[in-house]
Amino acid sequence: MQVMKPGDGRGTLYIVATPIGNLEDMSSRAVSVLSSVAVIAAEDTRHSGRLLQHLGISKPLIALHDHNERGRVQSIVEQLLAGEDVALISDAGTPLISDPGYVLVREVRAEGLRVSPIPGPCALVAALSAAGLPTDRFLFVGFLPAKRTGRRTALDEIRKEVATLVFYESPHRIQATVADIADVMGAQREVVLGREITKTFETFYSGGAADVHAALMEDPHGNRGEFVVVVRGAEKAASDLMAGELNVDTLLSLLMAELPIKKAAKIASELTGMSKNELYQRALGLKEG
Ligand code: SAM
Repeated sequence: MQVMKPGDGRGTLYIVATPIGNLEDMSSRAVSVLSSVAVIAAEDTRHSGRLLQHLGISKPLIALHDHNERGRVQSIVEQLLAGEDVALISDAGTPLISDPGYVLVREVRAEGLRVSPIPGPCALVAALSAAGLPTDRFLFVGFLPAKRTGRRTALDEIRKEVATLVFYESPHRIQATVADIADVMGAQREVVLGREITKTFETFYSGGAADVHAALMEDPHGNRGEFVVVVRGAEKAASDLMAGELNVDTLLSLLMAELPIKKAAKIASELTGMSKNELYQRALGLKEG
């Protein structure tokens, strides 16, 4: 059991969000906290140095990234114990959200020291807020595996999820990832892509997964910039069907009575969000057995 309140004479670790593209999104509270701390821990000190210079803030910077986070924790804890405040920032957006800082926050809290968030920009929240998909429940998945097989397996594991899904993706993989979403989750699954959010060329692509993929392939900027992928969750009925509560074989049998197997599998895939290939194999099995 732990309760953390201000004012115990020891330092506070501030987790400070910075802009994801538009510098005007820097909050005045973030500026005053960064101006007041003894030291700023940053993912990339050169990158953050430019932001701080723009803001007119001159503070000692220490690097804290995935490769040295454990080693840095002790010295930061010592500074906090000595009564000095420390801020953590990342290259863009909210630290710890697909960015370093988890180990530090965990350890600082374990020491009974105060951790205080200075909230602000976060690409996933910005994308979700403008996507027009349900926000009452969502699952943030971070980055999908870089390799195709791993990515498709990961998508397959969450295709029955009814909550809205949110992913980060790199420009090199965005087209392949949207193609995989269309294949694994269904061509009609609603997708909203937020590209270069808050920047000059901010663009939102929305529609069925296959249409969004086609639009990306046609757009000369379709593999440039930063992307957030938001995907509508599975329909409840489809999710139940996939969970076996409704019978997918009955649906396939009904469709196969009227249509060729391939077409039946395609329509069943569109209705359920299940993989076309899996349904085709299942339909073949039904026909044979
Ligand atoms: N901590 C950050 C946050 O709060 O959003 C995320 C850091 S993560 C390493 C970087 C990824 O966030 C990018 O690859 C992209 O998927 C997404 N991202 C960051 N800025 C973005 C922007 N302006 N527009 C779209 N996506 C963005």
